Amino acid sequence: MSAPGTLTVVGLGPGDPRWLTPAAAQALAEATDLVGYGPYLDRAPPQLGQRRHASDNRVELERARFALELAAQGHRVTVVSGGDPGVFAMAAAVFEALEGGDPAWRSVLITVEPGVTAMLAAAARVGAPLGGDFCALSLSDNLKPWAVVEQRLRAALAVDFVVALYNPISSARPWQLGAALEIAATVRSPDTPVIFARAIGRADEAITVARLAVAGGVAADMATLVVIGASTTRLVPRREGAPYVYTPRRYEARP
Ligand code: SAH
Repeated sequence: MSAPGTLTVVGLGPGDPRWLTPAAAQALAEATDLVGYGPYLDRAPPQLGQRRHASDNRVELERARFALELAAQGHRVTVVSGGDPGVFAMAAAVFEALEGGDPAWRSVLITVEPGVTAMLAAAARVGAPLGGDFCALSLSDNLKPWAVVEQRLRAALAVDFVVALYNPISSARPWQLGAALEIAATVRSPDTPVIFARAIGRADEAITVARLAVAGGVAADMATLVVIGASTTRLVPRREGAPYVYTPRRYEARP
C-alpha cells in the first residue's frame, strides 16, 4: 500500500458496552488494524480479517509510533484506550510520537473519538459529585515528579475543587494514594465524602463512599477512581443502599 491511511484513537468507555459511542464502535468495525493494550482489544467485537496488535500497558509511546507507521503504510488503524482516549491515555501519546517522529506520518489523517471517562461514569453511579467545579489529577509519578503531583493536589484542595484522582495506586506505586489522602485531611474536614469507584461498568464493579477520616482504610487498586469531595459535597440518604453524593452548583461563600 502506498497512499497514507488513517489513524483513529477511540475510547471504549469504562467497561459497560452500552457506554461505547456509535462513533467509536464504527471506528472499531472499519479498522484493518487494531492497536492497544490486550484487555482493551478483547473488548472490541471480533471482525473477520482484522489484525490485532496487542501490547503491554506501559509502552504507550512505542505503541503510538507503531500505529502511526502502520497508518503511514496505508492501513486503517484504530488505537484503543479505556474511558476517553484524551484523558491520561493514548491520544496524547499519538501526538507526542507524531511531533517527534517520521515526517511521513504527518500525511496520516488522525481522528480522536471521545469516550466516557471513568470520572463521569463513577460520578453518575453515586449521584452528582461533580456538580460544582472540579479537577482531575493523575496520581501516577511515572511520567511526572511526585513534587508536581503534590503541588497540584494542594492547589486544587486550597481552592475547594472536588478532586478526581486517576491512577491512585499500583503495585509499583503503593504509597501515593495514602499520601494524597493525608494531605487532603490537613485541608478538608474529616467528614468530607470520598468516593472509591472500582471497575465501574464491569462485572466486578464496587463502590464505597467513606468519610475522609477513615478513607485511608478503604481498599483501592489500579482499577479504582477516587473522588475527594469539596467542602460543599454532601450525602443524601435513601431508603435503601448507600446515600447519594452530590455537590450543589450554587456556591455561597468560601468556608
Ligand atoms: N482514559 C481513561 C483513564 C486512564 S488512566 C479514562 O478516561 O477513564 C487509568 C485510571 O483510570 C485507573 O487507574 C482508574 O483510576 C481509572 N479508571 C479507568 N477505568 C475505570 C473504571 N472502569 N472504573 C474506575 N476507574 C477507572
